[in-house]
Amino acid sequence: MDIENLQTPLYVMEEEKLKKNLQLLDFVQKRSGAKILLALKGFAFSGAMDMVAKYLHGCCASGLHEAKYAAEKVGREVHTYAPAFKEDEIDEIISLSHHLVFNSFAQWQKYKEKALGKVSCGLRINPEVSASPTDMYNPCAAYSRLGITKEAFHEAFLEGIEGLHFHALCEQGADELESVLAGFEAKFGKYISRMQWINFGGGHHITKEGYDVEKLISLIRDFKERYGVEVYLEPGEAVGWQTGVLVATVLDIVYNGMDIAILDTSAEAHMPDTILMPYRAEVRGAGKAGEKAHTYRLAGNTCLAGDIMGDYSFDKPLQVGDKIIFEDQIHYTIVKNTTFNGIKLPDLAIMKKDGTIEVVREFGYDAYERRN
Ligand SMILES: *Cc1c(COP(=O)(O)O)cnc(C)c1O
Repeated sequence: MDIENLQTPLYVMEEEKLKKNLQLLDFVQKRSGAKILLALKGFAFSGAMDMVAKYLHGCCASGLHEAKYAAEKVGREVHTYAPAFKEDEIDEIISLSHHLVFNSFAQWQKYKEKALGKVSCGLRINPEVSASPTDMYNPCAAYSRLGITKEAFHEAFLEGIEGLHFHALCEQGADELESVLAGFEAKFGKYISRMQWINFGGGHHITKEGYDVEKLISLIRDFKERYGVEVYLEPGEAVGWQTGVLVATVLDIVYNGMDIAILDTSAEAHMPDTILMPYRAEVRGAGKAGEKAHTYRLAGNTCLAGDIMGDYSFDKPLQVGDKIIFEDQIHYTIVKNTTFNGIKLPDLAIMKKDGTIEVVREFGYDAYERRN
């Protein structure tokens, strides 16, 4: 990968890696009979959407903008869910969507007349079972606004509803899906046969090494057999998982009790989950602090004190101008980027099968100016 001459900061999405993820997801579709959608919330990258359309059934969108993007860039099925829909957007959302999922009975009643006959309507329920790693990413945590609990469920208002949707996982395996399904069936099982489809949401870490794909397939087949419904999955992370990198350049190295390398990127603006989740991004060729001869704190070029990627060690001393490659930075990054502190948005590039890199989006001052 010839990155030395590229302008940074830059995301490089590797086409072959995305293809490998999509082929595995397609294998799950074919073996299980489920339909898989891309959750745009986690992975939206214009240059990759044609390839997504070749393998997956469409996208799940979280509102008008994602629904538009899904229709424009991927086509096929558009499934839209939002915690609440706005009156001035609902008509356009309906015209773009195939499935519409409501988060409450009030929203369903409000938009029922507009939606019926135009889209397949569903309800998001809260199975109140989850093993999410943190409350920030747990839709079933106490007081969650996401989905209807059994207590708030009104059987009397189900007429016209064709599907149920739950989303309770985050980076999890087939065992966790099994327990969520058990909870879902215990609470809402009696309504399932009246439905045409059940959406198992996202959070399935299908493309992560060690994920029990066979178990997922058998859970879906068994469910479909017992209830005679279509099953949808809508992963985001599993599509973009390990499909590319964020490349940055060392701008300066300062010393304050330790060596600190200042990069032309930002944890806060370009790798927000490293701060929010939090987690430590892998850096190509680097080890943990102290593991190799030369340890540095890698930090962002903003005025936020906590804009720090972490402490990493290298075989050779870093030099100003060196490139730093953060692994696995394509999902939940580009879609969350900000121009905080006026920092430049990373450009977007695609690495083709033969290793050539094509820059497909460049961002400059106007991205900052338009938003402020
Ligand atoms: C976030 C989300 C997804 C995608 O989750 P991943 O963890 O990226 O797979 C799917 N559906 C809904 C409703 C979501 O909120």
